[in-house]
Amino acid sequence: MGNAQMTRIPVIAGNWKMHCTRAEARALVAALTPLILDARGREIIVAPPFTALETVSRAITGTPIRLAAQNLHYEPKGAFTGEVSAAMLRDAGCAAVIIGHSERRQYFGETDGGVNRKIRAALDAGLMPIVCVGETLAERDGGQMTAVIERQVRGAWSDLAPDAISRCVVAYEPVWAIGTGRTASPAQAQEVHRLIRQLTASIASDSLASALRILYGGSVKPDNIDGLMTQADVDGALVGGASLNAEDFARIVSFTAAG
Ligand code: PEP
Repeated sequence: MGNAQMTRIPVIAGNWKMHCTRAEARALVAALTPLILDARGREIIVAPPFTALETVSRAITGTPIRLAAQNLHYEPKGAFTGEVSAAMLRDAGCAAVIIGHSERRQYFGETDGGVNRKIRAALDAGLMPIVCVGETLAERDGGQMTAVIERQVRGAWSDLAPDAISRCVVAYEPVWAIGTGRTASPAQAQEVHRLIRQLTASIASDSLASALRILYGGSVKPDNIDGLMTQADVDGALVGGASLNAEDFARIVSFTAAG
């Protein structure tokens, strides 16, 4: 699948989680924008909390930065107190949405079936799903890593047409590496990215899997991004903590993958 890698434009996405008032969000974008203006050949995404989406949408107008939300509900509208639909996210300026983040799976009971419904809702509204998968430390230590990733990938792609899968991005985020300062080694990331690509090839097709962008997430920092990006199947990063610091995020955006 080597040649196709050339066609996979890398994505660096910042997941701000439950951080940033609107004023803080504006300040972060203002600090980030001049630092990334020269970045070429990569897609830059930020995912603020719902309340700052419109503010950030305005602030990034005319910049290369694109907007994502961190979650959505799969129904288009209705009596779902506290939820936000895909159309509402589009209306707020979003181009993408993070789906199935491990914190959502862990703390909010998100299931593989729910992830699949959310992917469909996002695609129907023209949003690019950033679909998160990843094993816990106990699962990895218990030798279940492959089975967990396979279950999550098959669940995400369940009954989706190849064209639908082709409009998604995957983020491999080992739970033990998120917010812990303990990142997967480039080789560990590569092993799972390759597995995700092979699984997708068997579910959809080789050519679709070759074009699928698979991001790594889990304590990505300025000092480890370059190593991760040398890997054949690592097509970018989903960045949590370091995305809240403009200099750090800009450095991650300007990774060099000379290995
Ligand atoms: C994340 O939230 O998706 C993430 C990877 O967080 P961190 O970079 O802080 O580990």
